[in-house]
Amino acid sequence: MRRRHLLKMAALTPVLAAITEAAFSQVISGASSATPRRARVRPTDPGWPSEAAWRRLNVAVGGNLIKTAPLFSSCAADPGDSACRKAMQNMHNPFYLGDQPSGTQVSGWLDAWSPAASTYAVKAHATADVVAAVNFARTQNLRVVIKGTGHSYLGTSNAPDSLLIWTRAMNRVTLHDRFVPTGCADTVAPTSAVTSESGAMWIDLYDAVTTGAGRYVQGGGCTDVGVAGLIQSGGFGSMSKTFGTAASSLLEAEIVCADGRVYIANACTNPELFWALKGGGGGSWGVVTRVALRTYELPNFFGAAWGKITARSDDAYRKLLARFFDFYGANLLNPHWGEGATLGRGNALEISMVCQAADKAYASDVWKPFFDWVSGAPQDYVLNRKPGADAEDARAWWRVPDNDSMIPDSRAGAPPHHGWWKGDQDQVGLFLHGYDSLWLPISLLQPNGRPRLLDALFAASRLQKVRLHFNKGLAGAPTSVIAAAQETATNPAVCTAFALAIIADGEGPAFRGLARPAMDLAAAHEDARRIDAATAELRKIVPNAGSYVSESNYFNASWQQAYWGSNYPRLRAVKDKYDPDGLFFVHHGVGSEDWSADGFTRLRS
Ligand SMILES: Cc1cc2nc3c(=O)[nH]c(=O)nc-3n(C[C@H](O)[C@H](O)[C@H](O)COP(=O)(O)OP(=O)(O)OC[C@H]3O[C@@H](n4cnc5c(N)ncnc54)[C@H](O)[C@@H]3O)c2cc1C
Repeated sequence: MRRRHLLKMAALTPVLAAITEAAFSQVISGASSATPRRARVRPTDPGWPSEAAWRRLNVAVGGNLIKTAPLFSSCAADPGDSACRKAMQNMHNPFYLGDQPSGTQVSGWLDAWSPAASTYAVKAHATADVVAAVNFARTQNLRVVIKGTGHSYLGTSNAPDSLLIWTRAMNRVTLHDRFVPTGCADTVAPTSAVTSESGAMWIDLYDAVTTGAGRYVQGGGCTDVGVAGLIQSGGFGSMSKTFGTAASSLLEAEIVCADGRVYIANACTNPELFWALKGGGGGSWGVVTRVALRTYELPNFFGAAWGKITARSDDAYRKLLARFFDFYGANLLNPHWGEGATLGRGNALEISMVCQAADKAYASDVWKPFFDWVSGAPQDYVLNRKPGADAEDARAWWRVPDNDSMIPDSRAGAPPHHGWWKGDQDQVGLFLHGYDSLWLPISLLQPNGRPRLLDALFAASRLQKVRLHFNKGLAGAPTSVIAAAQETATNPAVCTAFALAIIADGEGPAFRGLARPAMDLAAAHEDARRIDAATAELRKIVPNAGSYVSESNYFNASWQQAYWGSNYPRLRAVKDKYDPDGLFFVHHGVGSEDWSADGFTRLRS
C-alpha cells in the first residue's frame, strides 16, 4: 500500500509542475474527456497539438519525448551515413531492434502491415511519464500505440500518425521472498515472487530468478520478448506444460488506464481488470507499468531432444508419423516435455523438444526406443540430423556467456546476460508471407481421433511445414496448472489442447528503406496461399478452432471467437468499464470492432 502511495505521489509531482494549459487539467483530475470523439487527429488536421503543447509534454516527461523516424530512414537519405551503417550492422540483433523507438522485430506482413514510425514517442522512465502521456493522448484526441520490445506479429505496437508510449527503458527487476498482492493480506498467502517493470525482457527475469537465485519464473521461450506483452498474450515458454502460462503466474499488475489513473489489479483489487490482463491481449486495457509474478522451485535439469528424419516414401512417412504420435502419447504427453516437432515438405520430421527432469539421464532414456526404431530402418529413413537427447544443470540454462546455443548481444555496453537462442535467429526481422495457428484438442490423440489427425497432418505437410508446439497446449499438464489457466482470459481451448499447430512462412528482412532485391511478390503470394491451404486441412478436423492471439492470422475474421472463445463477452465488459472511449486500440483487440481498421474513426458507440 505504502509503495503504491509513494509511487502515485512520485508519478504526479513532475507532471503537476509542468502542466498549465486547460487541456492538461485532466492530468491532475484524472477525469475522462467529456465527450468521446469519433475521429482521432493526424498531424495534417487542424486539431493536431501545437508545438507549444508538445513542448509542454516533453517537459512533463522529463525531456523524453522523441520525434521518431522509420528504422531505415537514414539509409533512404544517404546509404553511406553512419546511422544507416549502424542499422545495417545490427538489424539481425533482436536487442538492437527492441532498443529503437521505431524498431519492430518482424519487418512486416504481406498485404497486412508494414512498420510505420509514430510521429512522437514518449520513452517512459517512470509511471509518471506514462500518466502524462496517456492524459495528453486522451485530451488531445490522439491515436495511441504502446510498445515494449516490438515483438507483435500482428503489428499492434506501431501505427503511423500516432503517439507511442514506449516502456522499454522501464526494466528494473526485483526478487521477493514473501510477496503479498496489495490489499490481499487476509486472503493470499505470502509467496516467492519477482516484480518487474513492464519494459523488461524475459532474459532479464531469467537472469535474476534462475541464474542469480536458482528459482524459476514462467515466461516466454524467446529471450528478448517483452514481459508485459507476453503476459497479456497468455504467454508460453518451453516449460509451460509444467508451470502453465505466464498469465497464470501473474499476482499483480500496475497499469495506467485511459482516465490517466494508476490502478493496481490483482485478485482482491480490480479483479476483472486483473483477469483481462491475463491473456486478454496487449494494448487494449491501458499501459502496464509493473508486474509481479510467482516464482517456483527450479527443477534439477533442463534437457532437449533433437533430430531430423526424412522418409524415403510417402508410405514410410505415414508410418513415421504414426510411430511418433504413439511414442508422444505414451511417453511425452506429460508435464516434462515442451517445444515441438515440425512436419516439413519432403516427408521430413524435425524434432526440437525441451524437458525438465530430476535426473540427467531422463531425456536420453525416454527417447532411446524411438530413436532406435528410426535408426533400425535405413531403408525407409534418412537421418539428416542425427537424433539425440541430453540434459544439463537447469540453473545454467539461461547463462549467456559460453553458451553454445546462444548468441550474445555484442554491442558495446550491452548487459552480459543479454543473448538470444540461435534457433530464434531466423525470426529476427522476418517478413511474413502468412501465419496461422490452431489448438489441436487432445481427443485427436485418442484412438478414434488419431487416424483423422494423421491424415490431416500428412495432407497439410504436402503444402507447407506444420510446427506442433506441444508446450502451447496444456493437456497433459498438472491439474493445478490447468485450473490456473481456467482463471485467465485465454481461450479455454488451451486447456484441452495437446498442442498449438503453427503454419507460417516468410523471408529475410524487408524493412521499408532497406536496400534489398525486389520481393518476388508472385512467389510470396503463392507461399501465403499454401499456408492457408495447409491450415484448411487442419481446420477440417478442428472446425472453429481456437487460435493463440499473439501467434495468429492477421486476417482471421472470427478473431473474437478464435482468440478468446466464451471469454469474449466478459472481456468486452471489462473494456467498456475501463476504456469506454476506446483510447487503446489494436488490430483485432477487444473492442476494436467499434473502430476503423486504422483505429482513427469510431464506427459504433
Ligand atoms: C520472435 C518472436 C518470438 C516469440 N516467442 C514467443 C514465445 O516464446 N511465447 C509466446 O507466448 N509468445 C511469443 N511471441 C509472441 C509474443 O509473446 C507477443 O507478440 C507479445 O505480445 C510480445 O510482447 P512485446 O512487448 O515483446 O511486443 P510489443 O510488440 O512491444 O507488444 C505487443 C503487444 O502488447 C502491447 N504492449 C506491450 N507493452 C505493453 C504495456 N506495457 N502495457 C500494455 N500493452 C503493452 C502492445 O501494444 C502490443 O499490442 C513471440 C513473438 C516474436 C516476434
